[in-house]
Amino acid sequence: WEAHEMQQQLAQFDGNVASDAPMLVAVRLRPLWIKEVEAGDYSVVSVLESKVIVVVDPWYDADLNPNRSKEKKYAFDMVFNEHIGQENVYEETVKGLVNGVLDGYNASVFAYGATGAGKTHTMLGSLESPGVMVNTLHDLYSRMNVFQEAKFKVTLSYMEIYNERIKDLLMPTSIDLQLNEDPVRGMVVQGITEYGADSADEILELLHRGNLYRTVEPTAANQVSSRSHAVLQVTIEQSEATAHVTGNVRVGKLSMVDLAGSERASKTDNTGQRLKEGANINRSLLALGNCITALADKNRKGHVPFRDSKMTRLLKDSLGGNCRTVMIANISPSHRQFEETINTLKYANRAKNLKTKVARNVHSVSAHIAEYQRIIMELRNEVAEL
Ligand code: ADP
Ligand code: MG
Repeated sequence: WEAHEMQQQLAQFDGNVASDAPMLVAVRLRPLWIKEVEAGDYSVVSVLESKVIVVVDPWYDADLNPNRSKEKKYAFDMVFNEHIGQENVYEETVKGLVNGVLDGYNASVFAYGATGAGKTHTMLGSLESPGVMVNTLHDLYSRMNVFQEAKFKVTLSYMEIYNERIKDLLMPTSIDLQLNEDPVRGMVVQGITEYGADSADEILELLHRGNLYRTVEPTAANQVSSRSHAVLQVTIEQSEATAHVTGNVRVGKLSMVDLAGSERASKTDNTGQRLKEGANINRSLLALGNCITALADKNRKGHVPFRDSKMTRLLKDSLGGNCRTVMIANISPSHRQFEETINTLKYANRAKNLKTKVARNVHSVSAHIAEYQRIIMELRNEVAEL
């Protein structure tokens, strides 16, 4: 690993950390658990100046493998050490998206990482220590109260994607809900509960209850590992009362995703059903990574493989184009998680270069026509590809 490479990595961030950058990639390191310390685990991860992360290879042996480097370093927009609090994580990352959503931009937030790395803690958190989803909703509601002249309508949907099927976490009898693309509303989950909440206070409990319905399976790697993606979508409709823009309705949608564990199926002794789950999980995470890479490629010819998984289809209107994205990669400090940590940092590293133009959704007649034209173009392209 060379200092030169680090210089280049750091240089990428000058100007890219601005609050209007389309993609922000943060890494959050969790503390070692007491149970891990008692079992002899030790930390192999350290954070330098809140931007650089250093991971020491616990299996490094200069005699056996002289070409392998002992230390691996990566730079990100932000790196949080194990002492950071929940509010700080929110303030440094997702808070920057909230005004945009109120203004009619779509945005998405992802927690990525292996099982046990801290994704659910970061996104949902606990009642005593609420995470990003809850902090975002509190902030949204308090800001809406400030804008007196505009009328807001907020709806929440909470779902899981498990084995390429969408289940309503607010009505768990609804499984295998279908996705449709609507020219005005974007991607729509047919029949999903759209919960109209008047305040943020009732939401925390609602989400915790919904989370109990997530599909969890025991695997050899972990007693209970979450094999599903949980997606909270908050839609904010705002009718503008100001005279010069009468008739327009702005719609902003914020998608917050607690991704399934990124560990490889091969590490657990998965067989049968569980192996299939592993394959589908990797398929979604792979598809998400591929979409992000395609969007990041400034010379791309227009094809982003949204269709490769349910999750990327669902988020088609919330990635790239008119949207901003925050990725929070969660890692464990333990030497036993070294491989997973490196894999997570590599995945997050790929996401860093996303640069897209940000445009607002204002639903007017001309916007509808443009949207229909875009869909027709896409269908033509798909036909041409066959
Ligand atoms: P994941 O959702 O990635 O599988 P969790 O968020 O459930 O992992 O975290 C696993 C455990 O570690 C939980 O008990 C959680 O409370 C704890 N934990 C995770 N991150 C942190 C953190 N930053 N600080 C304190 N405890 C944490
Ligand atoms: Mg979890």
